Amino acid sequence: MATHERLVIIGSGPAGYTAALYAARANLAPLLFEGLQPGGQLTITTDVENYPGFPEGIMGPELMEKLKAQAERFGTRYVAGEVTRVDFSRRPFSVWQEDSLSTADAVIVATGASAKWLGIPSEVKYRGKGVSACATCDGFFFKGVDVAVVGGGDTAVEEASFLTKYANKVTIVHRRDELRASKVMQQRARKNPKIDFAWSSVVEEVLGDAKAVTGIRLKSTRDGSTRVLPVQGLFMGIGHEPNTAIFKGQLEMNEVGYLRVRAPSTYTSVDGVFAAGDVSDPTYRQAVSAAGTGCMAAIDAERWLAEKGIH
Ligand code: FAD
Ligand code: NAP
Repeated sequence: MATHERLVIIGSGPAGYTAALYAARANLAPLLFEGLQPGGQLTITTDVENYPGFPEGIMGPELMEKLKAQAERFGTRYVAGEVTRVDFSRRPFSVWQEDSLSTADAVIVATGASAKWLGIPSEVKYRGKGVSACATCDGFFFKGVDVAVVGGGDTAVEEASFLTKYANKVTIVHRRDELRASKVMQQRARKNPKIDFAWSSVVEEVLGDAKAVTGIRLKSTRDGSTRVLPVQGLFMGIGHEPNTAIFKGQLEMNEVGYLRVRAPSTYTSVDGVFAAGDVSDPTYRQAVSAAGTGCMAAIDAERWLAEKGIH
């Protein structure tokens, strides 16, 4: 039997929890599906130094616990696990978790983004045997050895800095000769004696003895030459892709899968379905901007429900 909700929120990152906080305070009693990563991307990081209100910084998982508790205090209900299917073609909307159906008058999509992988076969072979996309989860296993991080943005530089706590040496492998990361992170990395750079290089193959990684073969993006870098770990830091697979054919997306919203609002291509956070933001992708659009989505949903006479 289906249960009916006024508002369903999909995702438990800063966008989902903030949307829930505002919606709960508007007496919408939102039902929030947490997904497979409760708390979202910040649960796999350490210090968050740029979320306003925490002058000393705050650990990512602790910040997310606080956001969750704040939304719960006003009546948000949580469901563990992911939404596996939706039907936004008619109202009320349908949201399934396997065979369990919830119908909803309005939906906020806040499913965020996931780490990208290189897409080479050897990376799959050595995943969990030295290849990882989460330094905070796996860094501990690389005490005293050499590792590499691929990418040139904030994630790569942050992961590399974190890994220096454990590793002997961390090489940032970047396909260009200039980092994309913010200036403060770049300076920190350049000053760190344990961090090296392999500029204008891509990972062509992960090398190993079937049980563990022993090195990576790098190819120069300048002249095509190759060399082997002996490392025991390889971490992905090449960005993220939006978690929008279940919305294909239902909500309009851009060419790389980010949900389109009618900026400056959070309205998607379906009336009554709103989007917030990284899932609809190819540009800023920060915790505070995700929380900000989460707030906007809840206000948009509340006003839309009121216009439709759904109280
Ligand atoms: P996310 O945090 O990605 O959360 C998405 C949520 O959706 C998750 O709970 C997931 O379980 C859920 N979900 C996905 N699919 C489904 C489904 N089918 N059904 C139900 N739920 C689903 N930003 C900063 O501002 N400062 C930082 O210091 C910072 N550090 C970072 C460090 C790392 C390592 C990373 C990866 C990112 C960092 N960011 C930082 C970026 C920041 O984490 C994101 O911008 C922010 O988390 C986006 O929030 P979100 O709510 O949109 O989505
Ligand atoms: P990003 O900014 O998109 O950077 C991705 C990096 O990976 C780029 O340097 C890119 O190279 C490289 N890359 C992409 N695909 C590649 C491939 N197939 N092979 C090799 N290299 C590849 O992603 P991000 O670093 O994950 O950051 C995402 C957002 O989260 C940003 O807005 C960032 O500010 C935010 N964030 C913030 C913090 C923080 O504030 N502490 C920490 C982490 C993330 P090019 O440069 O050549 O394109």
